Amino acid sequence: MLCRHCNQVRSNRPRGLCWSCYYTPGVRDLYPSTSKFARRGVSDFNGKAHTAAPTIALPGSPEKVAILEERARLQQELWHPADAPMDRESRKLGIR
Ligand SMILES: [Zn+2]
Repeated sequence: MLCRHCNQVRSNRPRGLCWSCYYTPGVRDLYPSTSKFARRGVSDFNGKAHTAAPTIALPGSPEKVAILEERARLQQELWHPADAPMDRESRKLGIR
């Protein structure tokens, strides 16, 4: 396989790049890792999270899952006390 960047020489470095492209500043960042062990998806986060805006999306709904994904991406708290509850009974119990 030829280098993904210069298409001149055989790739012999990770990400399908040749030696000189791989070690040229900036080039490596243009090509995501092809390794199955590389980090994928929303990056892990540990620390003080920002507060998110509450949502009316019901728990378990695709809309709520999308909102959780967005909150994780923005390093916000996943759960907001004013998020829509499962139903009226769980609101009374304080269970979400
Ligand atoms: Zn190259």
